[in-house]
Amino acid sequence: MAGGKVKSDEEEQMSALEKHRHAGKVVREVKEALGGLVRPGVKCIEICEAVERLIVEKGGKPAFPCNISINNVAAHYTSPPGDNLTISEGDVVKVDFGVHVDGYVADTAVTFCMNKEAERLVEAAREALKTAIQLIAPGVETNAVGREIEKVIRDYDYRPIRELSGHILEQYVLHGSKVIPNIALPHGASINEGEVYAVEVFASTGSGSVSETPYAYIFSLQPFFVPLRLKEARRIVMIVEEEYKTLPFAERWLATRFSRGKLRFALRELISKGALRQYRVLSDRKGSYVAQAEETVIVTGSGCEVIT
Ligand code: MN
Ligand code: MN
Repeated sequence: MAGGKVKSDEEEQMSALEKHRHAGKVVREVKEALGGLVRPGVKCIEICEAVERLIVEKGGKPAFPCNISINNVAAHYTSPPGDNLTISEGDVVKVDFGVHVDGYVADTAVTFCMNKEAERLVEAAREALKTAIQLIAPGVETNAVGREIEKVIRDYDYRPIRELSGHILEQYVLHGSKVIPNIALPHGASINEGEVYAVEVFASTGSGSVSETPYAYIFSLQPFFVPLRLKEARRIVMIVEEEYKTLPFAERWLATRFSRGKLRFALRELISKGALRQYRVLSDRKGSYVAQAEETVIVTGSGCEVIT
């Protein structure tokens, strides 16, 4: 590559934050279009595909598959290939999506409530998120934010979900090492200026604890050390390294390139050899409702800037 002025750390940092902001702008535009899309009778796969297509049309790339988690399902559901799941009257629908520009991510989630009885639950999640965002500033401990999130949700008489957290965003790393919990924890990490966080809260009418279902439709590539037997498995690794890198991807995204059976076999080999992390669908107990609210922020000198 041709030479030129070497960028200082500060300039490098600027361009990274500008890319996060660009991703945030795409997120806001997609969010605007989403309102008309999520309603009873619409198939989840149509929403997933529309969100992911709009992201590309508006100049970004999906940072992960569009998640649509309904009622007691809290996270990690995206439509598998050929999905027939449809939004119904009375549903509480969380749409969680993200955009990246050169690996710099903006991550958001909106809850669409088609159930009068769950409106307060949605409000609780929104209020807790608002409180968290107001608190975030350099020097603040992540667990102090978690404590306030928990307090707001419990004041509404709902439960925060203990296993799910907000997370720092790093280039091509969706869930970095610092987390912003939904509950009071004894220890935390200090928040620093220039860091970027996806702040997300989950309020539940159920137990406030999620368990893994047997289903996983989202995966990400991990370092692995065993040779792969199936040529389709090796091809998946090449595609993912090229197109998604370490970011999560959907089985659905690969479905146009492989037959259904071969894709399943190849994914199974990759999982068994430790090459793929599976994101299992997470849910609270049957009959409960979960609401989610999420925005991405850049930590500034005195507080934070919401970019989504
Ligand atoms: Mn999200
Ligand atoms: Mn997130």
